[in-house]
Amino acid sequence: MRWSRSYIPTLKEAPADAEVISHQLMTRAGMIRKLAAGIYNYLPLGLRAIAKVSNIVREEMNRAGSQEVLLPAVQPGDLWVESGRWELYGKELLRFTDRHDRHYCLGPTHEEVMTDLVRGEVRSYRQLPLSLYQIQTKFRDEIRPRFGLMRGREFIMKDGYSFDKDDQGADISYRAMYDAYNRIFSRLALKFRPVEADSGSIGGSFSHEFMVLAQTGEDTVVSCTGCDYAANLERAVAKVAYTPSSVDCPPCAEVFTPAQHSVEEISAFLQVPAFHIVKTILLDVDGKPVAALVRGDRELNEIKVKNHLNADEVHLATPEQVQQWTKAPVGFAGPVALEVPTILADLELEQREGWVAGANKADSHLTNVSLRRDAKITAYVDLRTVAEGDTCVRCGAMLGTARGIEVGHVFKLGTKYSKAMKAVFLDETGAEKDMIMGCYGIGVTRVVASCIEQNHDDKGIVFPPPMAPMEVVLLCLDPANEAVFGPAEEMYRQIQELGLDILLDDREERPGVKFNDADLIGAPMQLVVGAKGLARGVVEAKNRKTGEKVELPAQGFMEAFVTWKNSVYASWGM
Ligand code: ATP
Ligand code: MG
Repeated sequence: MRWSRSYIPTLKEAPADAEVISHQLMTRAGMIRKLAAGIYNYLPLGLRAIAKVSNIVREEMNRAGSQEVLLPAVQPGDLWVESGRWELYGKELLRFTDRHDRHYCLGPTHEEVMTDLVRGEVRSYRQLPLSLYQIQTKFRDEIRPRFGLMRGREFIMKDGYSFDKDDQGADISYRAMYDAYNRIFSRLALKFRPVEADSGSIGGSFSHEFMVLAQTGEDTVVSCTGCDYAANLERAVAKVAYTPSSVDCPPCAEVFTPAQHSVEEISAFLQVPAFHIVKTILLDVDGKPVAALVRGDRELNEIKVKNHLNADEVHLATPEQVQQWTKAPVGFAGPVALEVPTILADLELEQREGWVAGANKADSHLTNVSLRRDAKITAYVDLRTVAEGDTCVRCGAMLGTARGIEVGHVFKLGTKYSKAMKAVFLDETGAEKDMIMGCYGIGVTRVVASCIEQNHDDKGIVFPPPMAPMEVVLLCLDPANEAVFGPAEEMYRQIQELGLDILLDDREERPGVKFNDADLIGAPMQLVVGAKGLARGVVEAKNRKTGEKVELPAQGFMEAFVTWKNSVYASWGM
């Protein structure tokens, strides 16, 4: 590709709304342009990076035995009614009607369509297992589209689905995808971690997210410093720290705590540490009141409540609900004499006694609370959010946290969709069974953005070779001079023949502009052909990652180039 004929509109300044580096650099490097909030045009360099990711994804999916299909973006609403998600999915699902007043939506994911496709054709256990995938444009009307391709409304996803005849087969399919994902992200030279993720009501270790580690990540990854335990924050568990308990707990006593609402306020006011206070959080769980108790210095993990109760929706109670359920304003709820049918307490609250808690009465708290004696606890379960400094359930070592970007997700669905949509088959005995499904997503466009979050410097993008839109950029400093352009063009041609993607910068621009643009677009290899160098018989070569510059001989150039190219790949551990 010749730069003079290419559409690579680079910019000196990033747009004002670009908060993260990948959004800034992809715009400045002429890879993307915004069309509307969360909707982007992919320009030649952007599309090339996307294609490189797609190709590696495709190769590894095929290798793992999955077959590529392409399903429509527009989906009939009826299928979503069948699965039960027409009601549940919320506003991220963009719905519309056609001229016949039939309901449709733009696909945010394809479980319904894929299940419909397979139930129509598969009748016998002999046709299973089956694994299908596509690389396709999704639409989710995200409430806050931001960070460029990181959280778009329209984006490209690889979504795969497996269908098995039994649980054992489904676990094998799951494992095959887990392994394929590890190969994909390794081949893309990303620093990543698979982490245990929330698998909702299915339970077990049947959901993993693949996280690219980066400061700007929206997710928190918890990982053990001593063993290979890693989980996302929603799912992470820590060893239960039992605080020692007083032997005989004196009777509860009411204390006057005027206008003291928060744990910090109560702690300061009553001179008790936060970890001796019970925090009572009232929740609306599928329309019913639930109280969740955690230690005052801990945070409640609402997802754990949701999973324990097998619920669809968990919301914090409104001030009106709190008033109605506790007969007190917000800030004074407590477990004693609380008229709420379900009261869940975190495991840490099981051993100790002598707590401070709200009295369900304005401006009042109770001391010397024994949950066993004074409250009706429905169950003690793990409810809290893990924090820095907690210890590992498996090995007892310290847990650490890091920021991550979710680029992939593997999930065992079980029979959720096959049951609802009647995707059944006849087994060996002729009995009708539900297919066991799994689903597997990779955010292809998000992968490109997260790679840039991980690989950049103050001059621009530093692409690893497997994702680079252009592996080499050859800067011809004097394209009008045939004595310079001739050799440059010859090198360009020969490098193309090696099968590398090379961009020849033949623009009539100052060298400074060319150097800056080459750094900005992030090609791993830069070659500089100019009159001065050629007079000395050399071409300058720069490794974009290390910044290291060497001179390659103009005579016998290709041989020297190949050796140097291998050293550049080696600097990427390839
Ligand atoms: P998130 O928690 O980030 O909203 P999700 O859990 O909704 O993601 P999945 O339904 O698991 O995402 O989708 C599979 C993959 O698609 C994700 O792992 C992610 O890489 C990508 N993805 C999801 N939403 C977006 C988006 N709005 N923009 C770009 N990529 C996305
Ligand atoms: Mg997910």
